[in-house]
Amino acid sequence: MPKQSIEWHSTGSGKDEYPRIGLFLDGEWVYDRADAGVVVNPSTEEVLATVPKATDSDLQRALGAAARGFLIWRDTAPTERVRVMQRALHLLRERKESIARILTLEHGKPLSHARAEIERSLNFYEWEMGQALRAYGAIVPSAPQMQKMVTRQPIGPVFAATPWNSPMGSAARKTSAALAAGCSVILKPAEETPGTACELVRCFEEAGLPAGVLNLVLGDPEHISSVLIASPAVRMVTFTGSTGVGKHLTQLAAKVMKPVAMELGGHAPVLVGENVDAVAIARMAAIVKTRGSGQICTAPSRFIVHRNSYSEFVAAFGKALDELRMGDGLDPEVEVGPVSNARRLAAAQALVADARQRGARVVAGGDRVGDRGFFFAPTLLAEVPLDADVMTTEPFCPIAACVSAADLDEAIAIANSLPFGLAGYAFTNSLEEAEQINRRLECGMLSINHFDTPDADTPFGGVKESGLGREGGPNSLDAYLVTKTILQYTAKV
Ligand code: NAD
Repeated sequence: MPKQSIEWHSTGSGKDEYPRIGLFLDGEWVYDRADAGVVVNPSTEEVLATVPKATDSDLQRALGAAARGFLIWRDTAPTERVRVMQRALHLLRERKESIARILTLEHGKPLSHARAEIERSLNFYEWEMGQALRAYGAIVPSAPQMQKMVTRQPIGPVFAATPWNSPMGSAARKTSAALAAGCSVILKPAEETPGTACELVRCFEEAGLPAGVLNLVLGDPEHISSVLIASPAVRMVTFTGSTGVGKHLTQLAAKVMKPVAMELGGHAPVLVGENVDAVAIARMAAIVKTRGSGQICTAPSRFIVHRNSYSEFVAAFGKALDELRMGDGLDPEVEVGPVSNARRLAAAQALVADARQRGARVVAGGDRVGDRGFFFAPTLLAEVPLDADVMTTEPFCPIAACVSAADLDEAIAIANSLPFGLAGYAFTNSLEEAEQINRRLECGMLSINHFDTPDADTPFGGVKESGLGREGGPNSLDAYLVTKTILQYTAKV
């Protein structure tokens, strides 16, 4: 079992540090609304705040504000847009510590990981501010008196819905690119973790972003999505979250012919070859698998290990998972926090029960830890049948599943057998194998011989049912820009 250092702090639930949750409509905070639910500290199960439920007139107000805000922001010089964004970033950097604590309180991840998420978000803004100044078009060679120009213009108000597993990172991904491109935004963070997003919006408010350019709504996600996507004011939909919700939002957008960007679920395979340092890879895997308690779309989750490396890898992986220190993320010693909500705890328990029942071996963890807080022990399942739920459904919890493979062909066949294709990982000392994996593994992001995933400078996204479009990288503004071709006759008319 993992070292159990589950401690509760003298601040109690953390209520005194957690912000009041509001809607931000046309430059104004609105608090006085019916409750859409409560925010729960997953380490203590105590209530941190209530979530206001946007009414239909709030949604109409957000739409009107975003439409007006768009006209202002579109016509703001890119250099001035960057200046406003820089001021907001400055505030975000100054408030990093207090916002990291809010993130830990609402999500559960260790404070050091919350700080890292904010640092990564700052990178996204830095990158997109650079992109704002480089949204070049083209002049096409043409006959005298005819000028042919291709310009790239902001698409319009954007509806951005973000998940609870990366409350700052996802909101930053979307707002950084949309605002850099000159779009206005209606942001809907997950109702489970709205505090971080409220603090982010406050930075932009205080930085002098014009009213209406960035709005924040919360409440009933299904209702909000259907109203906002159907409205002619919204011109583009961007979502990070589960494949099921992503498909639903894509269908709503298709009905009104709106483009979408979808960053959805994965079930990342990790191919471990023979003649590798299985122990070193297993130790790295334990750390990466349990980051965010496994609730990360790129989390490595299906370990497909060459039969000659298998026993050594499984033994070292189990040991490394057992040694992790789990507890309240506010404790600086803690390496793994709780899962973020009761749904994920129940899902983790069901995945282990199903795998056990089908004959899998529980090498580490396997159950809830304690009876207060949503703590689930870092878990390793070995010899897992390929039809077990944990091999086919995204686990989104700290459970790793191992199977052995006779050769690369079998490993790739197992890896490609699911409808997902977000991240993939491979460890090999053979250049020939690496080249084959590179060509044949179906995923949007492949990391060979390490577990890092793309930062702001490289495209992030998936293939198959893991999504549509890419965030970050050199084409990061494409989703938020439309191409307009202008044919201008320059003679007098
Ligand atoms: P869930 O489907 O109950 O809820 C997921 C999130 O979607 C919630 O935050 C909810 O507010 C939001 N949501 C639901 N309907 C919506 C709508 N119509 N419009 C906008 N948002 C809507 O699942 P869960 O238990 O919270 O998470 C479990 C699954 O979600 C995991 O298995 C994982 O696949 C997926 N997930 C993926 C990511 C990601 O980053 N790719 C993030 C969060 C969750």
